[in-house]
Amino acid sequence: MEIFSINTGYINMKSKFHWFPEYKEIQRYPVLSYLIRLKNKNILFDTGLSQDGIDDIGVLNKFVTIEVGQDYKFTQQLKLIGIDCGDIDYVINSHLHFDHCGNNRKFIKSKFLIQKDELTALKNNSRNPSYIKAINLQLCQQIEDGYSIFEDNSARLFKAKGHTAGHQILVIESGYNVAIFLGDSCYFDDKTQKLKLFGGLGITANNDAVAFIENIIKIYADKKIKFFYNHDINFNKYNDENIELITSELIKYKFGGIKNE
Ligand SMILES: [Zn+2]
Repeated sequence: MEIFSINTGYINMKSKFHWFPEYKEIQRYPVLSYLIRLKNKNILFDTGLSQDGIDDIGVLNKFVTIEVGQDYKFTQQLKLIGIDCGDIDYVINSHLHFDHCGNNRKFIKSKFLIQKDELTALKNNSRNPSYIKAINLQLCQQIEDGYSIFEDNSARLFKAKGHTAGHQILVIESGYNVAIFLGDSCYFDDKTQKLKLFGGLGITANNDAVAFIENIIKIYADKKIKFFYNHDINFNKYNDENIELITSELIKYKFGGIKNE
């Protein structure tokens, strides 16, 4: 298994509006996508920001400004990895917010996997902003909680509602390693190593997502778990021998050489 984190741009928070209250001094958040290479397949978890995806972000304009410069161009970063958009087998959107589906329309050959509840919420919302145009519903496969990408259950998608009605997380088992892609369901605070809520539907629903992830941690207690989330302010600052900085905005995670692999 190889994992690349691709930064597609930054969201700058205005005034006191924050996603991560404990990081008061930081107001610039990266918007990451993850490319996972597993079993000779290319899986993309979220498609990040793009200019055409943010032309109308509606009420969010009050709270944020967006950077989607040349450096973060998705296709160029894929090229550095050695692939192009046509090589992506599966696109997974954790949820359908503008910063997670902005490049969807670039993937015309891929199979899209989105939770049924997320698509239902989208179809029932008459006030969807125009970035929704980036989502080609005809390409989306509506999936159920627990959907398995491969027959051996090594890569599964679980509903972790809270941030949105049908938010999903991706859990991949590869030998001794378990990679868990949290999207915006919640995140880990580096300082306290505690799961934190990300905001969204309300405290009860968000707590459901946290409880779900705490349960996963118990299930995989004998494995090495690594969490990935989409606005990791430290993503290119970790001092880890398993990380290779390809550029400051493109990171490769290596999982070779670890027990049972
Ligand atoms: Zn987000």
